[in-house]
Amino acid sequence: MARVMNFSAGPSALALDVLNQAKNEFMDYKGLGFGIMEISHRSKTFDEVYQKTVGLIRELYGLDDDYEVLFTQGGASLGFAMVCLNLSSLGRGYYIDTGVWTQKALKEAQIQNIDHEVIASSKDENYSYIPNVELNKDGAYLYLCSNNTIYATQYHALPRSKAPLVIDASSDIFSYELDFKANNIGVVFAGAQKNAGIAGVTPVIIKKELIGHHAQNVPTLLRYETYAKNDSMFNTPPSYAIYILSLVLEWIKKLGGLSAMQARNAKKAELIYNVIDSSNGFYQGHAKKDSRSNMNISFKTPNSELDAKFVASANDENMIGLKGHKHLGGLRASIYNAIEPSEVKALAEFMKEFARKNG
Ligand code: PMP
Repeated sequence: MARVMNFSAGPSALALDVLNQAKNEFMDYKGLGFGIMEISHRSKTFDEVYQKTVGLIRELYGLDDDYEVLFTQGGASLGFAMVCLNLSSLGRGYYIDTGVWTQKALKEAQIQNIDHEVIASSKDENYSYIPNVELNKDGAYLYLCSNNTIYATQYHALPRSKAPLVIDASSDIFSYELDFKANNIGVVFAGAQKNAGIAGVTPVIIKKELIGHHAQNVPTLLRYETYAKNDSMFNTPPSYAIYILSLVLEWIKKLGGLSAMQARNAKKAELIYNVIDSSNGFYQGHAKKDSRSNMNISFKTPNSELDAKFVASANDENMIGLKGHKHLGGLRASIYNAIEPSEVKALAEFMKEFARKNG
C-alpha cells in the first residue's frame, strides 16, 4: 500500500487505525450487513454511534453537565454566523483579530449588524503573533481563534475574560488538554476536517446557559437550541462524519487522551522548529517564537524559486501538502494529531538536507 506523507492543512491525513477500521466496517458495520452511512439516523445502531461520540468528547475534555455537545453542519464558516445569531442578545461581542479566520468571523458580525468591537489585533505585524489581552468588561462573548491555520500562530494560554470565550478551534481541537470551566469557555466549535475526522460535521461544545438566546427570526437550523433539544438530529445529521469522529476520538483515547496528544504534538513541532532555528537563516518561520503553533508551521526559504523547488523535491520524497497558503506564500507544514512523529522526523531530515544542498 502506497501512502504519502500528507502535510496538508485540511482536509488532512487520518490516522491509519481510523482508516483501517472505517475500511473494515465500510460495507458491513459490526456484522449487521450494512454500512453506517446506509442506515437511518433514527436507528438504534446510529444512536449508539452518536452517544459514543458525545460521551468521548465529554470524557476527553472532562466536561460536566453545564456543557452540551452539538453537531452542526456548514463548517466552521457557518459557525461564525451562528455565534452572532445565538449570542448577540446577551450584549457586545468582543473579538481578537489574529488573521483571515477571525476576519471572516468579524465579517459575519458586520453582516448581522450586531454590537461588536475588536479589542486587539496582530495585523500590525502581519499576524505573526498572538496579542496579549484581558477583558475586564461584561459582554456576550470574547471571540478568538485558538490556532491560526494560515499564519501558524497558536494561543498557549487563553486570555482572562469576564465574558465567556467563544473559540474557533478548527485547527487545534482535541490536540491539547483544556479546562473549560477554569478558562471561562462558553463555546468551542471546529470544522472536523483537520483534527476531528472528515468534512461535514462541526462539533460544538457549548455552555448550556448560552443556549436559547436567539432572536425569533433566526432560522430553525441556525439555533443552537434546535440541536440541543433534538440530539443534533432535528434533520438528518452528517452521520458518516460523526462516525469517523467517533473513531478519531477512540484513537485519541487509546493513545492516552489529550495530555498524551499534547505531549506528542509538542515534540513533533519541536523537530521542525529546531531545524528552522538552526538553519542559519535559510528557513524563516513566520510566527514569533512565543506564538508558534504546534499544528501548522509556516516558513519560507530565501526566495520563491527555492520554495517551489522545496515543494517539488518534497513531492519526489513522497511528501505532499507543503505549499503555503496564498495569503502568506512560502511553505507550510501541517502536523495535526494524526501525523506520526516518524513522518515529522522524515520532513525535518528532508529540510536539513534541502538547506545543505541549496544554502
Ligand atoms: N477556522 C479556521 C481556523 C480554519 O482553519 C478554517 C478552515 N481552514 C475555517 C475556520 C473554515 O472552516 P470550514 O471550511 O469548515 O468552514
